[in-house]
Amino acid sequence: MDFAPTREQEMLRDMVRAFAESELAPNALSFDEKGEFPFEALKKAAKLGLVGIINSKEYGGSDMGHLARMIMIEEISRVYPPLGFYFQTGQIGMYGLQNFGSEEQKKKYLPPLCQGDTVMAWALTEATGGSDASTLQTTAELVGDEYNVNGRKVFITAGETADVVGFVAKAGDGTNLLLVEKGTPGFTTPRREERLGLRSIPVSELAFTNCRIPKENLVGQEGRGVRLALAGIGAVGRPGAAAVSLGIAQGAYEVTLRFAKERNLYGKAIVQLQAVQFALVNMNVETEAARWLCYYTGWLLDQGKSPGEIGPDIARAKLYATDVANKVCLKAAEIMGGYGLSPEYQLVRRLRDALELLPAAGAQDVQRVIIGGAIAR
Ligand SMILES: Cc1cc2nc3c(=O)[nH]c(=O)nc-3n(C[C@H](O)[C@H](O)[C@H](O)COP(=O)(O)OP(=O)(O)OC[C@H]3O[C@@H](n4cnc5c(N)ncnc54)[C@H](O)[C@@H]3O)c2cc1C
Repeated sequence: MDFAPTREQEMLRDMVRAFAESELAPNALSFDEKGEFPFEALKKAAKLGLVGIINSKEYGGSDMGHLARMIMIEEISRVYPPLGFYFQTGQIGMYGLQNFGSEEQKKKYLPPLCQGDTVMAWALTEATGGSDASTLQTTAELVGDEYNVNGRKVFITAGETADVVGFVAKAGDGTNLLLVEKGTPGFTTPRREERLGLRSIPVSELAFTNCRIPKENLVGQEGRGVRLALAGIGAVGRPGAAAVSLGIAQGAYEVTLRFAKERNLYGKAIVQLQAVQFALVNMNVETEAARWLCYYTGWLLDQGKSPGEIGPDIARAKLYATDVANKVCLKAAEIMGGYGLSPEYQLVRRLRDALELLPAAGAQDVQRVIIGGAIAR
């Protein structure tokens, strides 16, 4: 097996790291405090080809593949996880359009999304339970040439910011995946949800009240909405969440290592204390293990494996990387003593972001259910 990253992937990492250090690092704390969507950073990332990284060039993407995407999200999230998290969900929608959309839909929506001129959201979850898609209550009833949509979605990343949302609704005996544009009468985002982490990416409720959506906004085949939404979450959302977690773990580890080299006690840096060293070693080893689970998932997707075929591999990466991110952040806070929870050390925001990753893109125990089912078989 060849584990060496390609020259293009090495160059991508260097480029994204330079971008993250120069454009994101100086502003990460103030972005977090203000809680505003980072439109400018998104546009700059788009200029580097990062937004449309898995979209084809024909529609404005840079077509670098899934492993490249994992590396890109890792590097962004090492410095500023909310932007990585937007890529996690926004790119589900862009993947969905690319793979299941009509030619008209691709031509209309993908180029401005790839350029960072517009924002996309992907809405499956409802208040009745995100883990169980069979409880969906939102309905889309075909009336003439339009769907009449009624219902509510919760926890939708960039919901209030998005120019276009891909969402799932019950339609007849099945479910449909539909597109709704911002400003469509009957479609509102009544509430931004109060969140602990990822504060500059709004997470919102969506409401549909007799919202009329043209028939041509159906994405993919009639009746297959949940399957298509889950395919997007499997191929893009869950691996993306794993990569955000990996970046958080790496960033928190680096903050702690720097601190441990600078903080002196008993006349020497605390990195010389064996207990501190052991903690740093565990962070280092577990982050590296998470990295290879993440990259392996990206590599499998680049080999053309479908999310259905490699569900347990994707679940392993998300489960492990997210556990590691939380563990590293907590241990880091402990090692840094009283400074660990001071905002200026930029660990607290990472810890808050890591907590949000636990349910996002599928709860941790849902990943265990996927892996457990596979090993039991
Ligand atoms: C920051 C953030 C952003 C999000 N963005 C989006 C988005 O853009 N679009 C979107 O559609 N959704 C989004 N979500 C929703 C997310 O997908 C759901 O939170 C997730 O699927 C879990 O659903 P739930 O919160 O309703 O928890 P529930 O499904 O109610 O789960 C509650 C508990 O039950 C456990 N559980 C569930 N099923 C099983 C099982 N079979 N076996 C054992 N235990 C089980 C879970 O592990 C969990 O501990 C987002 C969530 C967060 C936190």
